[in-house]
Order: sequence, then C-alpha cells, then structure tokens
Amino acid sequence: MFEPTPLPDARAHVVVVGGGYAGTVAANHLRINADLDITVVNSRPVFVERIRLHQLAAGSGTATVEYGTLLGEGIELVVDTVDRIDSVARRLLLASGNHLDYDYLIYAVGSTGAVPAVPGAAEFGYLLADLDGATRLRHTLIDMPAEAPVVVVGGGLTGIEAAGELAEQGRPVTLVCGGPLGHSLSKRGRRSVAKQLRKLGVEVLEAVAVSEVRWDAVVLSDHTVLPSAATVWTAGFEVPDLAARSGLRTDALGRLLTDETLTSADDARIVAAGDCAAPSDRPLRMSCQAAGPLGAQAANTVLSRIAGEAPAVLSQAFVGQCISLGRSHGTVQLSRSDDTAVNVVVGGRTGAAIKEAICKGTLWSVRREAAKPGTYFWFKSGKRSAQLPIEQQARPDQVPLGSQ
Ligand SMILES: Cc1cc2nc3c(=O)[nH]c(=O)nc-3n(C[C@H](O)[C@H](O)[C@H](O)COP(=O)(O)OP(=O)(O)OC[C@H]3O[C@@H](n4cnc5c(N)ncnc54)[C@H](O)[C@@H]3O)c2cc1C
Repeated sequence: MFEPTPLPDARAHVVVVGGGYAGTVAANHLRINADLDITVVNSRPVFVERIRLHQLAAGSGTATVEYGTLLGEGIELVVDTVDRIDSVARRLLLASGNHLDYDYLIYAVGSTGAVPAVPGAAEFGYLLADLDGATRLRHTLIDMPAEAPVVVVGGGLTGIEAAGELAEQGRPVTLVCGGPLGHSLSKRGRRSVAKQLRKLGVEVLEAVAVSEVRWDAVVLSDHTVLPSAATVWTAGFEVPDLAARSGLRTDALGRLLTDETLTSADDARIVAAGDCAAPSDRPLRMSCQAAGPLGAQAANTVLSRIAGEAPAVLSQAFVGQCISLGRSHGTVQLSRSDDTAVNVVVGGRTGAAIKEAICKGTLWSVRREAAKPGTYFWFKSGKRSAQLPIEQQARPDQVPLGSQ
C-alpha cells in the first residue's frame, strides 16, 4: 500500500459519500484542519433519521431533518448520487452526469433493507429500513381501516420497534420472529420486551417463519395462512453495491473491506465509515451507535495521512441496545464493550426516556461537532479482537429458520 505524501501547496479536497450519521460526523470532524475543502455528496437534500423510520411509518413522528446546522461552515453539500468511483483518476461519477475529483474519499453510504428472497416479499412486503419503504408503508396505513391486520416479519430490534409502534397506534399486529424474539438481548431484555409487546396486544410468533407473502396474507412455515393487509419486512439489511461496482473489494454483503484504520484494502485514499465498513472483515454492528464514532475515526485517518502521520487503529466500545416499544415504553439492554448483552436492563417509562434522549442526543452530537470540530465523544475500547462475528450481532435484523 502506498504512503500518500502531504499536499503542501494545494488544499486537499476530501469528499464524503453519504450524509448519514457516519458521513456528517466525518465531514464535521475533518474541519479540525481548516485547510481542507470538504464536500458531502448525498442522494437526498435532507438528513434521514433512520432510527425514527418506524415512527414515520406508524404516524407517531417524522424522520427527516434539514441539513442546516448538521454540517459545519464551509462544507459543501452536493445533492446527487455517486454512480461509480474511479479510484485511479480519483474521480466520482455522479448520476446527474457531473463528476467530482477528490484527494481523499470517505465512503459512508450506509445500508438499506435487504430485498427478501421469500416469494412475494419483494412485491407485497414493505421495507422499513429506508425512507422510501417507510413512507410507502405510511401511505398504505393511512388508507387502511384501523382494524386491518398487520404482520411484521423479523424478531430483531427493528421488527420489535415496528411492532410496538404500530400496535400503540391501535393496529392489530402479529410479529413473526422465525426464532427467538430479540435474539441479541439477555434473558431479562427479552422478558422486558415481550411483556410490553403483550401489553400493547402484539401477538408474537417465535417458532414459525414466513415462507410466502401475498397481497392480503402471509403463509407461515407451518402452512398457516395469516391475513395481512400490510406486511412489514424488517429481516435483513444490505449495503449499496457502489464499492463492488467500482472494483473495490467488499465483504459478501457489499461492505468495503478495510484495515483497522478504516482504509480500503485496495486504496489508501479511500476510507470507510458506518454501516458500509468492514474493518478486517469483522464489521461492527450496523448501528448509529457505531456509525458516528466510525465517522470521526475515518476523518482522523484522513487527517493523519494528510499530515504525513501514521493513522490510529479503530477503537470503539458498545454500551447497549436501546429499543423503543411505542412512545411511552422502552427497553435499554446494557452490554459489554464487545456488544454482548449483560443481564441488566432498564425498562418501562425510564427506558423510553433514555431511548428518546439518545435519539435526540445523536443529532445534538452531530450539530456540536459541526459547531466545534474535535469535540465529538465516543466510548473507546481495546477489545476489538473480541468483536462479535456478524451472525451474532444485533443488527442487521435476522430471521433464522430459513425465512429469508
Ligand atoms: C427503524 C430503524 C431503527 C433503528 N434504530 C437504531 C437504534 O435505536 N440504534 C442504533 O444504533 N441504530 C439503529 N438503527 C440502525 C441505524 O439507523 C444505522 O445503522 C445507521 O443509520 C447507519 O448510519 P450510516 O451513516 O452508516 O448510514 P445511513 O444513515 O444509512 O446514511 C447513508 C447515507 O448515504 C446516502 N447514500 C447512499 N448511497 C449513496 C450514493 N451512491 N451517493 C450519494 N449518497 C448515497 C444515503 O442517502 C444516506 O443519506 C435503526 C435502523 C432502522 C431502519
């Protein structure tokens, strides 16, 4: 791998692809060096708060925010989609037909809902993991009678949050888990979630999976046909294929393969952050809990390279999993720094208050970094070697029993 030399005479241009949690923190953190030109390219003119998409779908909240104060002074926002990265020419080809040249690139394109392989699911299911899917579901729900049945597929965190939110709005909801409810939670965590879902009237099916989705029903693995006026698919996230399409090495899901400094395995000028990064092929859990810190660390790697210094290796500790169960209840599952759950939870209204404070705090910390670059805080850990293998992580929400 070549060692880039500092650029003494020219201002370096750093382009951040993706203005989500990782991309905004990265762009703001780069402003520590006042001599950089910083551009964020994002497909939409607004920031999507993906952690509130279940609220948008259920009608209990919104999930978009103007970039305004989320990006620090001097950062240019280009609303466009990157079609291809030409890493040899250091050029981005945009969907508009324009192009952007870069000296360093931070790759932060995030993730989306995985298009399910189950028959009928792609056609009739609603993906909750991106703005388009959540908005489509919202419009369908508005037109549906309140008593029409809704099936949520996926017993992971997104499925649990979606089921709770929809049930609190008075919808009859069945949650088909295809395995244990909240498999990443501790015993207490699962009990806390199950209790509140029960109170909200959600029927939880753990032992069956969905084997077919129809326009008005789902077929379960035990051949039961369950009426469903709207089927919400939360099982599985995937990553945009931009890196793979551009000839950069990725893992099986499409995350950019990097070393522990988040630098692409193929190109020292490309650094990844957030859901689309696979450091040492051992990615962190897809979460905004990891995305922000990864954004700051990706920016640090670029800053170090520009300064001609060796970049630091990744250090990030998880603290827990926060789950909303409607607006008034929540479960906060505490974890070890490697993201394994400990048998300690905070539930009920206190859990809901903590979750809401964290959602607000996430944007607050992006804004603070925009106003005062270098103030972004995250928990660090020397325990990367203990990072959980992907199949044991909490997100992406997975449905075992062959349902996807
Ligand atoms: C319903 C739901 C609830 C969740 N709750 C939680 C939670 O409580 N806690 C938690 O930690 N995590 C939660 N998550 C996960 C969390 O939202 C993601 O892990 C997080 O958004 C990842 O941040 P990111 O910056 O990597 O990517 P994203 O937030 O996905 O941002 C990526 C950005 O890149 C843009 N982009 C993509 N491709 C291109 C391109 N080619 N050109 C230009 N722009 C592009 C996208 O438009 C997007 O703005 C939840 C997710 C969902 C769906």
